[in-house]
Amino acid sequence: RKKNRLSLAQYKEGILSGDRIILSRAITLVESNLQEDNELSTQLIDELYPSTGNSIRIGITGVPGVGKSTFIEYFGKYLISKGKKIAVLTIDPSSQKSGGSILGDKTRMNELSQDKNAYIRPSATGDALGGIAHRTRESMLLCEAAGYEIIIIETVGVGQSETSVKGMVDFFLLLMLAGAGDELQGIKKGIMEMADAIVITKVDSGNENAARKAKKEYENALHLFPPNENGWLPKVELSSAVDGEGAQEVEKLINSFIKKMKENGFFDHNRSQQAINWMHETVHQYLRKNFYNTPVIKENLPKFEEDVKSGNQHAVKAALELIKKYKA
Ligand code: GDP
Repeated sequence: RKKNRLSLAQYKEGILSGDRIILSRAITLVESNLQEDNELSTQLIDELYPSTGNSIRIGITGVPGVGKSTFIEYFGKYLISKGKKIAVLTIDPSSQKSGGSILGDKTRMNELSQDKNAYIRPSATGDALGGIAHRTRESMLLCEAAGYEIIIIETVGVGQSETSVKGMVDFFLLLMLAGAGDELQGIKKGIMEMADAIVITKVDSGNENAARKAKKEYENALHLFPPNENGWLPKVELSSAVDGEGAQEVEKLINSFIKKMKENGFFDHNRSQQAINWMHETVHQYLRKNFYNTPVIKENLPKFEEDVKSGNQHAVKAALELIKKYKA
């Protein structure tokens, strides 16, 4: 394993020169559970930090089958045709539980993944969501240092990872279907509320009228939410990857959002707020891990769990007792 690791300087130079193989290896380092790897990746990110932050960070979510990978491939190719370099990072929360994955055993974004101006990376699996989110953030910074100007973070819209993704992007896009009988298709209201825009997918093959109707409905639904403090009214766009419609409109929409946020100061405000939250999350994660790895806690936990389970001990009291032992 050890000989697989490059030196800090090798990672750094490779990434800054846009070497995709080294970028991939650095992301693997970020995703590693080994302490030495974590130390090295923290150092690496620290060194690369001045070269990060220059991208537009876009979160994309939607239920399985809505057309995320098709849209990202189509939209990504459009952006590349306009001279951009894009990176796509996917978070797949399902894989932890089932061992399988919603996002894809199938090959996704085939054409895009072969384009030299695109970099596609599925998330590592089998870790707590907090861990995945943390790693995705760091991977995003590595992609920025490697020169990717647009970072797309894709997640399945099933209500687990969206909040973390919202917490690391500038713009949050929700994909929805038209006329799928809905009740908003199992998309939770809270996810709609996070969206800066909704894109209705598959607006083709006779689906056009239903899509226009859905557009009105979604617009109405969005306008019922309390206004965003950043002054942005979420928009609804139509798209068809099959007919090649919508990419230009979505790009315009994102550009006007970014322009407005930069003008009114919310772009920087949002990013610095996210950085503060990230710091706190890192502290929480560290403390939690540290707590459960402490010998006295490891030793006592089974008994406490047993007592709480059997009703011998009240949960909060048990927690406080454990903390007392930890601090002692
Ligand atoms: P994901 O699970 O959200 O990533 O969805 P996919 O991108 O895999 O798409 C699910 C299915 O919808 C696939 O069979 C796609 O070919 C199809 N699809 C995606 N986008 C469009 C579109 O714009 N028009 C039509 N007609 N079909 C689409």
